Amino acid sequence: RAKSLFAEPVKDVNVSFEFFPPKTEKMEETLWSSIKTLEELNPSFVSVTYGAGGGTRERTHNTVKRILDETSMKPAAHLTCVSATKAEVNAVIQDYWDAGVRSIVALRGDPPEGASHYQPHPDGYANAAELVSGIRSIGDFDISVAAYPEIHPDSPSLAADLDNLKRKIDAGATRAITQFFFEADSYFRFLDHCQSYGINVPIVPGILPVTNFASLKGFAGACGSSIPQWLGDMFEGLDDRPQTRTLVAASIAAEMCRRLYIGGVRDFHFYTLNRAELTYAICHMLGIRGTAAESAL
Ligand code: FAD
Repeated sequence: RAKSLFAEPVKDVNVSFEFFPPKTEKMEETLWSSIKTLEELNPSFVSVTYGAGGGTRERTHNTVKRILDETSMKPAAHLTCVSATKAEVNAVIQDYWDAGVRSIVALRGDPPEGASHYQPHPDGYANAAELVSGIRSIGDFDISVAAYPEIHPDSPSLAADLDNLKRKIDAGATRAITQFFFEADSYFRFLDHCQSYGINVPIVPGILPVTNFASLKGFAGACGSSIPQWLGDMFEGLDDRPQTRTLVAASIAAEMCRRLYIGGVRDFHFYTLNRAELTYAICHMLGIRGTAAESAL
């Protein structure tokens, strides 16, 4: 087994990777080069996001199908309830089933830009729990849902958020993937709460390696993720040094993975932002070796 940053062989670590559907040909090239690179790490699945407002429906679909057709990896399609009737969403689910896709990440989605709060479509699924039930009624999918170690911003309380997560699991979800966070303790506290609520599915930490602190500050609040002071300090004075920021990002994310591993975590989900090298480096430090490296042994 490979040595890792823990100075001992790591065992049973599984990784999964998230991509977003490309908008341009150039982005498509970058994505596919990243997919091919990360495929070497033998992920348990790779997921493809669904754009805000459902605007990427075709692109998500095409990317998922191409992963299915052209790689050895298991694709998971993100799907939201935004601005669509149940019939429209069901047609997408059926289409995935017919194409051989067996994993879905079921989400409510965010309000459209300019709207202050989420308004379900009158004929649509009202929330992720309802969507999970809908998916279950169509096929025997592996269903992941979102979880929020620092509470979803719409949630009135931790208890309400845990009730909501429990509803999603009771409706048939088999795994939760967390929103990104920067303190391992937030995750472990959340895990304890989940256990006390009888939520027994795997709660996979979502790891966001941060290279652009300025943009993180812009969107973290809306995601329900807090930014610790030390993270800002780490990026201080590096605005004009993108390469240095990448090195710092790898180091911070690897250290958090180390803490999570020591606390018992074996499954890690990476928000790759369609870039391979940073995630590849962190996985390497976790002890994951590419198939090319393994066959050379
Ligand atoms: P839900 O679980 O339905 O809940 C949202 C909030 O509403 C919670 O606070 C919950 O407590 C509350 N709530 C729900 N139902 C009820 C009820 N009956 N009564 C009272 N309160 C209720 N967004 C995208 O647009 N595309 C993506 O591809 C995407 N991928 C994501 C992947 C991950 C791993 C994560 C963590 C998030 C992702 N998101 C994505 C963002 C997500 O859509 C937003 O966070 C959205 O605001 C909530 O979605 P949800 O599925 O968590 O909603």
